[in-house]
Amino acid sequence: MPRKIYVVASGNNSVNWDTTKTAIKNNAASFADGFKDFGAGVEEYVTCPGCDRDLPLLLFHLDHIRAQARYTQTNLGLLGQAHFVVLDTIFNRQTEARIAATGGYVTIETGSKYYPKKGIVQSAEIWRNDLRNLQFLCSICNSSKGDRDWETWGKSEVDTRPLARRWKEQNAVDMAM
Ligand SMILES: [Zn+2]
Repeated sequence: MPRKIYVVASGNNSVNWDTTKTAIKNNAASFADGFKDFGAGVEEYVTCPGCDRDLPLLLFHLDHIRAQARYTQTNLGLLGQAHFVVLDTIFNRQTEARIAATGGYVTIETGSKYYPKKGIVQSAEIWRNDLRNLQFLCSICNSSKGDRDWETWGKSEVDTRPLARRWKEQNAVDMAM
């Protein structure tokens, strides 16, 4: 059974890389492994899952665990609404989000059924912004990995440190399928 897809939707219910990156940056403390002073004052740090280096979170790259090219093969329409979790930009689950996926597009609708807020997003953007497929990787590991899958790159197991797992742990949200 496919795992759930977690995306961050902007105010008009679009999903795009800028919104995802900004939301992660603005909620950096939720994803950090802790706080350290590397010489520029106390800041969030992350331990790179590829090389175990502790570095300031600001220096990390957002890596796609499964390379995007191989992650867009599934027709999202086949997964059904239950496989999507839509979060707002502060990572609150949008409980009223209604999802429909057809013909390469996904419609995300929130608000009341009479006054809905509707965003139409290309399926490729959903795959690209799926939080469970993202992790922090230092620049050295990221350029070494290139466009290979995390698993193929082979330094660790897939899903070692995806962002959404961290988010889930801290919010105790049931992600059972
Ligand atoms: Zn690294």
